[in-house]
Amino acid sequence: MRTSYHNHTTWSDGAATLAEMIAAARKAGLEELGISDHFALAPEDRRFPWAMAPESLDAYVAQIRRATATTEGLTIRLGLEVDYFPESLELIEQRLAPYPFDYLIASVHFVDGFAIDLNAQPWEGLSQESRDGIWRRYWQHLGAAAESGAFDIIGHFDLPKKFGFYPSVDLTGDALAALYIIAAANMAIEINSSGWDKPVQEAYPSPFYLREANRRKIPLVINSDAHTASDVTRNFERARQLAAAAGYAELVRFEHRKRSVYPL
Ligand SMILES: [Zn+2]
Ligand SMILES: [Zn+2]
Repeated sequence: MRTSYHNHTTWSDGAATLAEMIAAARKAGLEELGISDHFALAPEDRRFPWAMAPESLDAYVAQIRRATATTEGLTIRLGLEVDYFPESLELIEQRLAPYPFDYLIASVHFVDGFAIDLNAQPWEGLSQESRDGIWRRYWQHLGAAAESGAFDIIGHFDLPKKFGFYPSVDLTGDALAALYIIAAANMAIEINSSGWDKPVQEAYPSPFYLREANRRKIPLVINSDAHTASDVTRNFERARQLAAAAGYAELVRFEHRKRSVYPL
């Protein structure tokens, strides 16, 4: 079994159409392709160029469901990468409730209005003390996203490392507290293999946190966070080795937000 669940198309900031992603998934020998375009309901109706317009959700779901019904030999899963904003969580849940998602990925791309992963510039302008604060708030937000029970998979667990700006104080305890909540909330995490192609040159999560996730029996999926068709299974062999080294023997798949396991 081979799946890839974290993929972006032209519905948000991906370069490829759904049809192009499907063709790439076939070529890569996937059995399940999940589409998870960006959906963000930010406070004060702030809009982002990288997310679909919230009004597009109907059409997005309809196109993927059509593909699900008409694609043979490859299962198409309906997902979404949802930005976690504590202020609009209730609104987000209401907006998503009518749709038959297979899974929802929760991602924290912002803390208190600070863009974590857009580019290195905002980080460069921060004092080390402020960077520490962003990391601390990030772990709190991630824990709160898990605690909400609104989502199935935590996206790119240790995202703030993307540009190489690490905290100067030891925040391992904060990260492990977030992992504890993820486990208690019965959520899965992903190996996000895009990290190897970013300045940090390391998958999310780091080997240490992946081992800690396995110790807590947190279920795992391997995802590529593809924004182009050629990235649908990028670094997947490496990710499998990372999972095995962390002690994982199983991965999970999703159907209508129900999880099932299969061997790594
Ligand atoms: Zn993301
Ligand atoms: Zn993504």
